[in-house]
Amino acid sequence: MKKTTIHLNSISEMKKTEHHIHLEGSVKLKTLKKAARRKGMALPGNDFYPKDGYPDFESFTRVFDRVLAHFTTREDFFDLGYDFAEGQASQNIIYTEAFLMPQVHEMMGRDLKEILTGLEQGLVKGEKDFGVAIRLVYSISRMAGSKAAWTTLDYIDRYPNARVVGIDLAGMEVPDSIIPFKEPFETARQMGLTTTAHAGEFSGADHVRQTLDILKPSRIGHGIGCREDEPLIRRLVEENIPLDISLSSNVLLKAVPCLEDHPVRSFFEQGISVSLNTDDPALFNTSLVDEYKILSNRFDFTPEEIYRLAGNAPAFSTIP
Ligand SMILES: [Zn+2]
Repeated sequence: MKKTTIHLNSISEMKKTEHHIHLEGSVKLKTLKKAARRKGMALPGNDFYPKDGYPDFESFTRVFDRVLAHFTTREDFFDLGYDFAEGQASQNIIYTEAFLMPQVHEMMGRDLKEILTGLEQGLVKGEKDFGVAIRLVYSISRMAGSKAAWTTLDYIDRYPNARVVGIDLAGMEVPDSIIPFKEPFETARQMGLTTTAHAGEFSGADHVRQTLDILKPSRIGHGIGCREDEPLIRRLVEENIPLDISLSSNVLLKAVPCLEDHPVRSFFEQGISVSLNTDDPALFNTSLVDEYKILSNRFDFTPEEIYRLAGNAPAFSTIP
């Protein structure tokens, strides 16, 4: 039987939704250069983002931190928002829920009100100029402890913005590290926010199960640690918990030994609602269009399967 493949143009033209993408991990070199010039920093070269991945998570966070160092002022954050909207629009990503880590920026000495104002202005202009919609989910690092979660909820109170639709938990998956976040996550839901959590990226099924039990997130970021655990897979299907899948991220951070070992097709065939995302596209030299190409070329997803999978992202976004 002849294999049916989807044409690249169809992937580019398909209207897409993305809901697992970190704003700080999406910064193109042109945006970094504008920020660097503004403050007399050395301009980032073409090798700023490693092409071959990262030997460990620490080396990844070092590059992430070098990006953060460029963003200090209202103008920097305006560019961050505006250029992000342009990048999403260029791929026909009409709706995005993007992660931002406000507590990390404040910890680095930024004036939070100033930078959130700049970001909002950039996003408003970007949405208008490029015809896309962008919402924000404030992401919290596990390593910063539950105090960072309460601080983040306090920002949402202090700087109300309908664009902020949820909170997320990210960072190193240390066993039991999520327990202190139970209460802030419940409070967030009472505030009308959605809650998501990274889990099962580097850890196994137990951590995903604990995350579901304690944090009760509406989506799990990655979740590839579930792959050998049939009862957990059944639970994800029965409770209709989607997994945000990011193929290049998982390969370049060595969460899977190689692309062929990625469970995306197995998850899809077992009925889990998987969505496709870039996670940190600048740091992984990828785009959402590239990720869909991988599904088609390396995992033999047919056009029908690709359209079906692409429908999961809007179905499980906060404002579909
Ligand atoms: Zn992520």
